[in-house]
Amino acid sequence: FGESYAGGFFGPELKFAGFDAIFISGTSPEPVYILVREGKAELREAGHLWGKDVVETETIIRAECGQDARIASIGPSGEKLSLISSIITAQGRAAARSGLGAVMGAKRLKAIAVQGQLEVPLADPSGLKEARSKYLKQLGGNVKLWRDYGTCAVTLHAIQSGDAPIKNWGGSVIDFPRAVAISHERVVELQQRKFACWRCPVACGGVMKRGTGFYQYREGAHKPEYETLVAFGSLCLNSNLESIIMANDICNRYGLDTISTGATIAFAIECYEKGLINKRDTGGIELQWGNHEAIVAMTKKIALREGLGDILADGVKAAAERIGKGAEEFAMHIHGQEVPMHDPKRYSFYAVTYLDATPARHTQGSYGYRPAAGLEFPAYERTTFAGRGKAHKMGSDLVHVVNCAGMCLYGYMFLNFEAIPRFLNLVTGRQFTLDDLLRIGERVANLRQAFNIREGVSLDNFKMPSRVIGQPPLGTGPLAGRRVELDVLLQDYLKARDWDLRTGKPSRNKLIELGLKDIARVLWPGEC
Ligand code: SF4
Repeated sequence: FGESYAGGFFGPELKFAGFDAIFISGTSPEPVYILVREGKAELREAGHLWGKDVVETETIIRAECGQDARIASIGPSGEKLSLISSIITAQGRAAARSGLGAVMGAKRLKAIAVQGQLEVPLADPSGLKEARSKYLKQLGGNVKLWRDYGTCAVTLHAIQSGDAPIKNWGGSVIDFPRAVAISHERVVELQQRKFACWRCPVACGGVMKRGTGFYQYREGAHKPEYETLVAFGSLCLNSNLESIIMANDICNRYGLDTISTGATIAFAIECYEKGLINKRDTGGIELQWGNHEAIVAMTKKIALREGLGDILADGVKAAAERIGKGAEEFAMHIHGQEVPMHDPKRYSFYAVTYLDATPARHTQGSYGYRPAAGLEFPAYERTTFAGRGKAHKMGSDLVHVVNCAGMCLYGYMFLNFEAIPRFLNLVTGRQFTLDDLLRIGERVANLRQAFNIREGVSLDNFKMPSRVIGQPPLGTGPLAGRRVELDVLLQDYLKARDWDLRTGKPSRNKLIELGLKDIARVLWPGEC
């Protein structure tokens, strides 16, 4: 099951164009783009856009459809079916994960443009205005940090505390002494202005001044997020910030997932170090730890599927299979998805989150993702791995609700939770309670899991890379000696879900209890 989210303006504009969602089936023989405007949709020829990067694509489509069109498009990487390709909006807000750019590429769907000024019906417009002003005054959690810096606020602390992986998950902060060079303070020095998604009062994004040194990236390139700073930074032992901004912009323009691209380059560097690939394979590039020029050059090769970049463009799992010689040992992925930039040895809940129906994704929820106020999670003992299953389940259910509502996950974490049902009710006129939302989230979790099981993908296909959970443990740094008791964490969670303890298959009774009898019939034929 693949899913990915992006900020920007596309979602609201789709609503103003008259739709809540777009379903796309089949493939086109020729490149096309979809224009959705004022309640109507049409397919348009896109041969002239094929091969263009995202910035060029957005510029051309706006010239054809109007400057107010909002666009989600793929770059050359999605066209070339890279399994780490993404869908980009606003020239740099990426629905990056799960390789969804390749899905559009396979359909020869270059872009979707949306445009509209239709009125959005609201059940209680004045109540909504009041609620907005009330809850804006109460924003809590890390909101100030996010306003000042965005996600890069946590980079330095994460590297120093062990949350951020270092040297392809095999090193510690001892191996990366120049971490301060990619800190939030350095990033905002190079920022031109802040960037906010549609009507967002936080504005955690940013765009950069033109690169004027060794890396001449464009003015307006998006600010690298935390995950990008770590994937191209500490994971590759690279402390050259401008090179990370450059690599980020290449990924955004060509449509690549920065987490997967950085992780794949870290994997390739380790293969190079261990002699599994050499300078002939890299096309003359000295692919060594911290060599920022090599990292940027390899990013471009991946984007274009050139030379070794063709092998790396499908991520670490596929690359390890093609390189052979034991390269799998250095491939940090779960079921083909590169592990994101949070270490379960620091925050153990990530170990279970990474085994979600969409594996290796840090944003699929747990008790680590919670609102600023207004919600009690089931208690658990902080000194042991046991007994966290119910809290993890609740966190995961709530994040599914937030994602399905189209809210920003940061909005959720800065708000009093009561705001979520309140806003939903004021918009829809329904009367959702907290219990209703938890049930909706649980249904979503079960549907996603059932989708995988129906397609023959069960939890026992998901193998956690041993380094990620401290096998063997790190020898230095704040996490030295630490291991994650994954089996204990996972069994508790699966019990809380009433899913099979080996495969993760939802029980028949659970599906029926959630009103999913049709799904139960598919998963449990002959028993319903
Ligand atoms: S807080 Fe969320 S909605 Fe606001 S700018 Fe950041 S990502 Fe976009």
